[in-house]
Amino acid sequence: MKQVLLVRYAEIHLKGLNRPYFERALLHQIQKLVAPIEHIRVWKGDGRFYIAGYPPHMEQRIMTEVCKICGVHSVSPAWAVEKDMDCIAENAAGLLASSGKTAGRFKVDARRSDKHFYLNSMQINAELGGRMLEKFPGLQVDIHHPDFVLSCEIREEAYLYVDRMMAVGGMPVGTAGRAALLLSGGIDSPVAGYMLAKRGVELEAVYFHSFPHTSERAKQKVVDLAQVIAGYTGRLPLNVVNFTQIQEYLYENGPDAMLTILMRRAMMRIAERIAQATGCQSLATGETIGQVASQTMDALVVTNAVVEMPIFQPLICFDKMETVEVAKKIGTFDLSILPYEDCCTVFTPRHPTTKPRLDRVEEAEAKLPELEAMIEKAASDYEIINLYRKSIL
Ligand code: ATP
Ligand code: MG
Repeated sequence: MKQVLLVRYAEIHLKGLNRPYFERALLHQIQKLVAPIEHIRVWKGDGRFYIAGYPPHMEQRIMTEVCKICGVHSVSPAWAVEKDMDCIAENAAGLLASSGKTAGRFKVDARRSDKHFYLNSMQINAELGGRMLEKFPGLQVDIHHPDFVLSCEIREEAYLYVDRMMAVGGMPVGTAGRAALLLSGGIDSPVAGYMLAKRGVELEAVYFHSFPHTSERAKQKVVDLAQVIAGYTGRLPLNVVNFTQIQEYLYENGPDAMLTILMRRAMMRIAERIAQATGCQSLATGETIGQVASQTMDALVVTNAVVEMPIFQPLICFDKMETVEVAKKIGTFDLSILPYEDCCTVFTPRHPTTKPRLDRVEEAEAKLPELEAMIEKAASDYEIINLYRKSIL
């Protein structure tokens, strides 16, 4: 018997001729993740990947980390055994005993992709189920409401398992283009980034820092959030833009009611330039229709009109509750609620306009002659912090 991890992939199986491309991308991500573990092997079987040769005490950790790779559907720790019914039954009994599943309602779920095997799936179900009942009198078969399922897959070898850890799903990062994500320290934008990554989009994060109005701790919080996202994407460059001068200039010279819109438009312009410089085709933000004054339909339209690149806003129709649920699931929530100020909140206008008009906003910007030079400066001189998924060891 050999212990292996059986890694299923999510939507890749829907792909036609491109399938090998997606499989290679995902295999590469898994190999990169586990590479530091000595003697470990990862290979592609028929419609899934296998991992073997790892120390048993690392199994849980490997499973947890593999389940964070976008494109993975689920992982099962399995026993790989010889394709012989006696051997299968003996090991199945060993597996049930070692996982404490020797009593209760169960069913066998057999799958035979090796059609040369002498029993078909139904026959394996009956045979293996019968042998388990003989071995463990506390078991009873219940195919509709089982407490657990004993799976048996007849492929290159026979694989037996009783557990399954669900992964994030989606597509492998890097197979669906690149987006520059405006990443703040809030709850929303990290979730937006995760959701794009899950669809296979490679991210380049952009954070606007207004030191000393926003503290070093506020910046560190964004670095920490980017680190969590890198746990899903493998790598995440975080571009930290110095926004102080622009913010002060807008605060002192722009109309108060438009301040947030002017700031958001300046951010979009800078982000678009960084996106171009880093090979991104699109921008992404964590906005939701109607969440705050700067996210009314009118405000979003005016903010977005300043750039030409498409803008993706995965949370556009989410309720806050739905966003919070994802944030908790992916591990960004506790960081996001740390109380360090964001540059948008420090300079919030007293009476923000909720119905901005594009012509009026453009008029106001035309009266800010230094803005373009400041934007150009901010977009060409920024700090890059490269974050990587933490080592599995
Ligand atoms: P979040 O929780 O993502 O901060 P929010 O609901 O607080 O969102 P706003 O603060 O109005 O909304 O910001 C809207 C979007 O603008 C954010 O989702 C983010 O994409 C971007 N953004 C805001 N502030 C910053 C910043 N300091 N750096 C980078 N992006 C920012
Ligand atoms: Mg915010």
